[in-house]
Amino acid sequence: MKQIFLIIISLINFLPVYPYDIAFPLDKNITLSDDGIFFVGRTDKKEALWINDTKVKSNKNGSFAESFKLKSGENVFNIKNGENSLVIDKYTVNYIKPVCNESKLVEFPTQDFRTISDNVILRSTPIDFGMNRLGYLPKNTDLQITGLKNEFSRVYLSPNLSAWVFSKDIIPEQRENTIVGEYRGENVKSDIFSEIHSYKFSKNLPYSAVFDNNLLQIQVFNVENRSNEIFKSQIYLNPPYCYSVKMRDGLLNVSIPNVDMKHPRIIIDAGHGGIEPGAIGCMCDLEKDLNLKAAKAVKKELKSRGYNVSMTRNSDKFVSLKDRVNYTINKNGVVFVSLHMNSIPENKNPNDYRGSETYYYNSFSQPLANCIQKEITTSLGTKDNGVKQASFAVIRPTEYVGVLVETVFLVNPEDTKIYKSKDYYKKVAQGVSNGIDSYIKTLH
Ligand SMILES: [Zn+2]
Repeated sequence: MKQIFLIIISLINFLPVYPYDIAFPLDKNITLSDDGIFFVGRTDKKEALWINDTKVKSNKNGSFAESFKLKSGENVFNIKNGENSLVIDKYTVNYIKPVCNESKLVEFPTQDFRTISDNVILRSTPIDFGMNRLGYLPKNTDLQITGLKNEFSRVYLSPNLSAWVFSKDIIPEQRENTIVGEYRGENVKSDIFSEIHSYKFSKNLPYSAVFDNNLLQIQVFNVENRSNEIFKSQIYLNPPYCYSVKMRDGLLNVSIPNVDMKHPRIIIDAGHGGIEPGAIGCMCDLEKDLNLKAAKAVKKELKSRGYNVSMTRNSDKFVSLKDRVNYTINKNGVVFVSLHMNSIPENKNPNDYRGSETYYYNSFSQPLANCIQKEITTSLGTKDNGVKQASFAVIRPTEYVGVLVETVFLVNPEDTKIYKSKDYYKKVAQGVSNGIDSYIKTLH
């Protein structure tokens, strides 16, 4: 009897019990801090699929998206092929409300600290998010700290200015004879590759470099021999407005490359890869694979138009964000385009999110974002969600003009039709290449 039972069980396991795939959620037992969850996948149009008491609505190619509100604690989702049929699969989603523990600002008299690593981010606000980066401080930069908020320390810049660094990036320091910051002169030199402005100070000091309206505004703080303890300088930049700023041994170097905009090197970045799949689509496609196919098509199209093109990855391998940035800078990339496909938080409804969007960080990259957004929506026929500014690591550097394109929403059944169509990659290649063409034309 037991044997027969086992045979039946194994037959059930091998038979395709029911033709459906749930691409997301990936796990059957998950814990979330958002108050909603969506299920995306595909099903056979001829058969019904139910999630609890909701009958799944799929589109022509079988892809579907259903979203549900979560109650606090355990939420069970039973997958069935009829309202009152047997349960064929089960998902358990635990919703735990996040505790908000925003702390108050604690102020104290000035204390001496120094940075303990390179590239410590000096921020205008005490949050690890958004457009608040002023400069990147090297290891052993002397700082004067006047307060604490959450995981940030407040840095004294001048009598009426302050900024923030992560508290983990600094340590207190006993400075025997406090050497004050002092400005000691400027030097400019240029060759065929670049123009370098060097500003000499008595030691490493907090600084900010902000590009605005063709001008790079430089400010160095805690400078005793300058009014309000701020040294100020501005440099006029020409298109494409790329630059690099570094503080080393009290020397602030601003390097401006001479770029040949007739033959700019273009870097195409296929998002994710290797152990990092990115988003997952209704049809179980992995974003990393589709991004790579799109990147290859874009490269081919740009090459046929006479551009010099490289890719940050051309196989299914993991490349860190830092390595993508370093690769682009080392290759003297001028135009950088990162290709992605969009996803949404668990508590949103995938049916409400479709279309293309293009991101930039530095204001001088916005014209490229505008050109690519216009051309990609025209080429793909997607909803135009516009150009947006966001702090993504691969588009933050000022050494190149960088944008990140989200071609479609991978979890949206309508967008699924677009990315599943046979000329999708050709259209992405046309859209991105036309966008780059029209951006470069604006620079002449
Ligand atoms: Zn992505």
